[in-house]
Amino acid sequence: MRRAAALAALAVALTARPASPDPVPQHAGEVVTYTIAVTLDPATHTLTGTERVTWRNPSPDPVPDLWLHLYLNAFRNNRSTFSRESGGQLRGIDMPDDGWGWTDLTTLTLADGTDLLTRATFESPDDGNRDDRTVMKVVLPGPVPAGGEVTFDAAFRARLPRVFARTGFSGDYYLVGQWFPKLGVYEPAGMRGRQAGGWNCHQFHANSEFYADYGSFDVTITTPARFVVGATGRIVSTADGPSGTVTRRYRQDDVHDFAWTADPSFVEVTGTFSATGDVTDKEYRDAAALVGRPIEEMRLSDVAIRVLMQPAHRPQAARYLEAARQAIKHFGLWYGRYPYSTLTVVDPAYGALGSGGMEYPTFITGGTSLLLNRWPFDRIHIPDEVVIHEFGHQFWYGLVGSNEFEEAWLDEGMNSYSTGRLLDKLYGPRVSFADLLGLRVGRSDMLRVTNSPLRMSDRIRQPAWSYAPGAYGFYSYDKPELALDTLERLLGEPLMARVMRTYSERWRFRHPSSDDFYATAEEVSGRDLRWFFRPVFEGTDVLDYEVASVDSRRAAPAAGRLGDGQAVTVPDPKQPAAQYESTVVVRRRGGLVMPQTVRLTFDGGRVETVQWSGAERWLRLKRTTTDELVRADVDPDGTLPLDVNWLNNSLRRKAERTAVRPWSVRCLFWLQELATMVGL
Ligand SMILES: [Zn+2]
Repeated sequence: MRRAAALAALAVALTARPASPDPVPQHAGEVVTYTIAVTLDPATHTLTGTERVTWRNPSPDPVPDLWLHLYLNAFRNNRSTFSRESGGQLRGIDMPDDGWGWTDLTTLTLADGTDLLTRATFESPDDGNRDDRTVMKVVLPGPVPAGGEVTFDAAFRARLPRVFARTGFSGDYYLVGQWFPKLGVYEPAGMRGRQAGGWNCHQFHANSEFYADYGSFDVTITTPARFVVGATGRIVSTADGPSGTVTRRYRQDDVHDFAWTADPSFVEVTGTFSATGDVTDKEYRDAAALVGRPIEEMRLSDVAIRVLMQPAHRPQAARYLEAARQAIKHFGLWYGRYPYSTLTVVDPAYGALGSGGMEYPTFITGGTSLLLNRWPFDRIHIPDEVVIHEFGHQFWYGLVGSNEFEEAWLDEGMNSYSTGRLLDKLYGPRVSFADLLGLRVGRSDMLRVTNSPLRMSDRIRQPAWSYAPGAYGFYSYDKPELALDTLERLLGEPLMARVMRTYSERWRFRHPSSDDFYATAEEVSGRDLRWFFRPVFEGTDVLDYEVASVDSRRAAPAAGRLGDGQAVTVPDPKQPAAQYESTVVVRRRGGLVMPQTVRLTFDGGRVETVQWSGAERWLRLKRTTTDELVRADVDPDGTLPLDVNWLNNSLRRKAERTAVRPWSVRCLFWLQELATMVGL
């Protein structure tokens, strides 16, 4: 890659392209190393484990302490921050009364045997909740010097919660995520705009996900032999153990988390993504041209895909597999090669949808329903969308390690945008959500109904736990997707593709902030985009322009005393036969300002286009013409998906308001319900 980098640098010098290409990094810096051994006891739903963890100080600071996440304690009682914020309910699923889960560290020592447990305290940096035990601080006997490292050993015992939020068990099904004591991220000064170095280790909230550092995992999992097991990474050995158990060992480098699943009833379906067989030369060439990279930087690599299906959903296995294959291909072509050799896709058990639609490195969970096994409901793209979305997180969360606590849009919003692009590409933009019984729904239609003039409570960029009730989803997923769709229209598809490519490459295995994305977009486009990013991502204003009035009337013939005072004879033979005086008023109803195109359509089909900065509150256009004005449109081509009300963008004279896209909001209602049901 070094050679490619040099060539690319030369290409920049020769062509003076504004952005420098960043070849995809091959490996992460290894900040952490985890060696874990864990045993599942399905009778008590407990995990008994040990871990040896090495942390390398990536900063120039001596670091006096370590901060750890103990996520399972979110489910410890009804006083945890997670319980209080969620009210025992998340993504439409209730917390069961007997579902408590927790984790306890039984020993914690340095490699030399020094006890650390007596030096550990529970911290609640976000809300001061003393009942929350999801963050632990351990003061070390001496600081870890800059560039130095520390190794500790921990033993833990954890009870898994009954699944309702991401992790736990349901019957014999286990989805084991956020299960081991995991270090936070030590952010040196300058990273993500930090003034001074320090640990970034937030409590587990109802609406927030994860943030951790890169390294390698070596995990040994012991279960009763009847379980089918899947996990992050590659399996390197399987051995029979005592009392009818099986021990499986998995390894994976360059990741920041590890999850696994176990269920005796999984049906295993395997397939391969082939970098040569599944991508044509033309596809490589087209993608290279789109993202502006040499063809040799575009090569993907083979991936072994393993789908663990519930038997009842077996008819959908091929869809899961195909969605995974398409996602590996297209996201890889757009954002750089998926660098891992495996992908495990888990279909959650009935009653465990709370663990569906989740992402961990090389390991994702889907979500579907029996209903979708059969025609016509198999024409609804929900299971495919879930797999594609969760795989997309391999890039936005996995490879680009954004802080999901503080800037959730950087993973969920980027990923929603990426998922949307792929769904439109695979199924067509008009039917990318569903195509059944004459109902054709594109994902952009679904997206637009989430927006409204009343959505002014929060900003896209703010901590995930700080949104108004019910607002997290809109501001972390939908509004950023609308915003990135809008940015794509403003920049054009090729430039946007290069922005995303450059951002993805440059921040692979690193931790960017929103500012880093803004800077990449400005650099690659060569444009000042502050006017877009600041108000859209960091403000609460909405975008709404409307055609307020359209008037066109026949001009009265000249009459009275004109010019030198001679009376005009009526009718004046020198005057043109018919003149129309037309007036259009366009108004800015929202606080967001964006340049607008106003289109005037005259009788007979003549069209006039007017560009307006959009800055003033209103604009009046007056025209005197021989043809009659019949219609006015603002943003006539629908280039601003952020617009909160599309119904007021067009107005015909003497007619009712006409929607730009006449479709019924009501008919989408049940589709949204269905989407909610499977946890989209
Ligand atoms: Zn997501």
